Amino acid sequence: MKKLYSWNFISRIIFLLLTPVFFQIFAIGFIWHSIYWGVITSVMLIWMIFILISPLVGRIGCGWFCFMGTATDLSSEHSIIKMKWRKPKVWARLLMIIMFFSSAIAFNIINSHRGITHGFSIDPLFLKPDFNWHYASVWMIDIGSALILGLLLERRWACKNLCFMGALCSAGSSWSRLIPVVDINKCTSCGKCEKECLVRIPITDYIKKGNGLITNSECIICGKCTAVCKADAIKLKFVWRRKKYVAVK
Ligand code: SF4
Ligand code: SF4
Ligand code: SF4
Repeated sequence: MKKLYSWNFISRIIFLLLTPVFFQIFAIGFIWHSIYWGVITSVMLIWMIFILISPLVGRIGCGWFCFMGTATDLSSEHSIIKMKWRKPKVWARLLMIIMFFSSAIAFNIINSHRGITHGFSIDPLFLKPDFNWHYASVWMIDIGSALILGLLLERRWACKNLCFMGALCSAGSSWSRLIPVVDINKCTSCGKCEKECLVRIPITDYIKKGNGLITNSECIICGKCTAVCKADAIKLKFVWRRKKYVAVK
């Protein structure tokens, strides 16, 4: 379990480095362009799968795959503004989802009227060749903004407050069966897991509740909390029946 975070780190770095080469497969921003051009691309299919499996394994797409999240993690180690944990606002997330999809669909309709597109087709590796450089610059802007936001604000602020995909995965992740679980009898309440958590989840507040389940839909299943706990008290586990865990008083 301790090694899980090392694997997580390797995975995030690999996908970060691969994204500029396989932009059309890995970059979530390309979903907007896919709708714009009326093409179902691999990045859309991949994230559709991540959304569908989020009630089972939580936000592994955000924690193991997304280059934007990784870029934020790298700079937020040195973030200037330390903020307290705040639950993301549902209305703000809904607004981001509506803005993202309605603008892309509006352009798709305009393109259709102009005769540039005809409905939707499936082309997993779609990328307009003459747009290669355009997408490379989009990648650089994405990386730059993620690094700046990570440096300025709390960990994964953009993931919690701006990203439409974060909102969709988080909705499914509320029911996730894979969650961090604290053995209350072993825990020394040192707070190290919370301090090191990539999302700054208030783990100690959950520990105080006493049943040891860290049921926070922002958790990205990175495993860092398990790696830093000296008491070996926190583990990622599949929990099929949450009611089985009774609070220890
Ligand atoms: S919330 Fe969005 S930007 Fe953040 S890791 Fe998930 S998909 Fe990437
Ligand atoms: S790091 Fe381990 S011992 Fe410390 S608060 Fe977290 S779970 Fe408890
Ligand atoms: S609670 Fe643990 S697994 Fe979840 S995001 Fe925080 S460090 Fe990662």
